[in-house]
Amino acid sequence: MRFAVIGAGMAGILSAVKLREAGFDEVTVYEKADRVGGTWRENRYPGVACDVPSHLYSYSFELNPQWSHLFSPGDEIQKYFESVSSKYGVEEMTRFGDEVIECEWLERGCWQIRTRSGHDAEVDVIIAATGVLHHPSKPEIEGMDDFGGSMFHSARWDHDLDLDNARVGVIGTGSTATQITSALAGNVAHFDLFQRTAQWILPQENPAYDESQRAAFADDPKSLEDIHQQFSTIFAEGFADAVVDADSPQIHLIADACLSNLEENVPDGELKESLRPDYVAACKRLVVSPDFYEAIQRPRTSLVTSGIDRIEKNGIRTVDGVLHELDVIVFATGFQADAFMRPMNVIGRNGIELAEVWTDRPNAYLSISIPEFPNLFMLNGPNGPVGNFSLIEVAELQFDYIFQLIQCLDSGDATEVSADPAATRSFEADRVEAAKSTVWVTGCRSWYLDDRGIPSAWPWKFSRFQEEMAAPNMDHWDVRSPT
Ligand SMILES: Cc1cc2nc3c(=O)[nH]c(=O)nc-3n(C[C@H](O)[C@H](O)[C@H](O)COP(=O)(O)OP(=O)(O)OC[C@H]3O[C@@H](n4cnc5c(N)ncnc54)[C@H](O)[C@@H]3O)c2cc1C
Repeated sequence: MRFAVIGAGMAGILSAVKLREAGFDEVTVYEKADRVGGTWRENRYPGVACDVPSHLYSYSFELNPQWSHLFSPGDEIQKYFESVSSKYGVEEMTRFGDEVIECEWLERGCWQIRTRSGHDAEVDVIIAATGVLHHPSKPEIEGMDDFGGSMFHSARWDHDLDLDNARVGVIGTGSTATQITSALAGNVAHFDLFQRTAQWILPQENPAYDESQRAAFADDPKSLEDIHQQFSTIFAEGFADAVVDADSPQIHLIADACLSNLEENVPDGELKESLRPDYVAACKRLVVSPDFYEAIQRPRTSLVTSGIDRIEKNGIRTVDGVLHELDVIVFATGFQADAFMRPMNVIGRNGIELAEVWTDRPNAYLSISIPEFPNLFMLNGPNGPVGNFSLIEVAELQFDYIFQLIQCLDSGDATEVSADPAATRSFEADRVEAAKSTVWVTGCRSWYLDDRGIPSAWPWKFSRFQEEMAAPNMDHWDVRSPT
């Protein structure tokens, strides 16, 4: 069988490794950039790090004894993906600098792929590993074109800039803005954090693994497997299962820890109140940081809570009339989390276009498959557990599930497989219902919420995800066999 894997980030690398391991040798990975790595290739801002423990944020088949920290920095994660890709020959399977712009299902039962460079290919199966947090989202602010300094999104950091003597303004207060604040506040001429919404901050130390600990992991692979499993359990029980139950004891523990962090580490009453969110902890994606409150109180650092009125040549003017003079403006404003495969033009059976199917919002059965788009499978697709679990764990479970469908095609038992429309509707109805008891709907604005205010995420526990991913329920699949 011929495969196209679109994207060479974490999920695309995984797919290429697994398909080759299974003996498929007609696998082409399409990557529009010039290197593997996806998120970790693009997000190289100061302070970037994982907020899932590194020994969990690792492929289960390639555990890494050398992680430097409990939550390792982004450049280490990027190197990890590069080394896995080299070890398993993923680079040789990849067409770099070639963006897939169109996939069309042909009546004779295969996909036609077209890339920006004009390359055409026919394949039997597509794995879309195009990412979730991939397309930067930048607000339109009046006067943006007038700014005289440097201005960029956090995923497009300008590494040529010398920031030591720069006045830096960061817009946003999510995980990225928090990490940038910890890295830059006090270390540049002046640092302004423009806050629209305060965040709860879960205090979490980030200890380094010393040489002897790393050597011990290297000498004893079983200990690496154990720590991977331990973190998986701790993360699932302490966090992932908590966010889907707004009344769970763990949510109260998280809330208490965040509250104590604020109360104990911000003595100034006015600053403390400015930093106090008015919603339940973990309603927005929980920010984890060992030192954000300390960082925001460093010299030459300000928290700006007045709304942004406009951008001018010399900086940002807030609605209270104050001009905050800046040399650099960073948009730590997140990503278009509902884009998924788009803007790729995907045309399924009978000419049906993905753009039409997803007009209102993206949807898929189990985040993996869309009715009438046969033999096309997504990793980290719509409404998946994007903020709940380690996305590597998610992608591995999803891949194993997809692989069972691929085997069904490979054996000749079926020629086309895609989600059954009724099963997809029923799954979506259950998902929307379950979302009502999650912490994400307890009264905050966040990127989890779709245009109806429904979280576009997996609203059940990790164990349910594992159970669903164990084996496809073939009654929920539209399987067409050779005639
Ligand atoms: C700053 C940041 C921190 C994060 N921290 C964590 C964390 O701590 N834990 C966690 O679990 N997750 C985290 N995430 C989520 C992270 O995105 C995933 O963990 C993971 O890296 C996603 O891998 P992916 O392969 O699905 O997508 P991506 O890494 O986004 O890779 C997608 C790839 O597809 C390519 N591509 C897209 N469209 C096309 C096309 N049409 N043609 C060719 N190539 C294409 C892209 O160039 C990219 O290389 C974080 C995300 C960000 C932005």
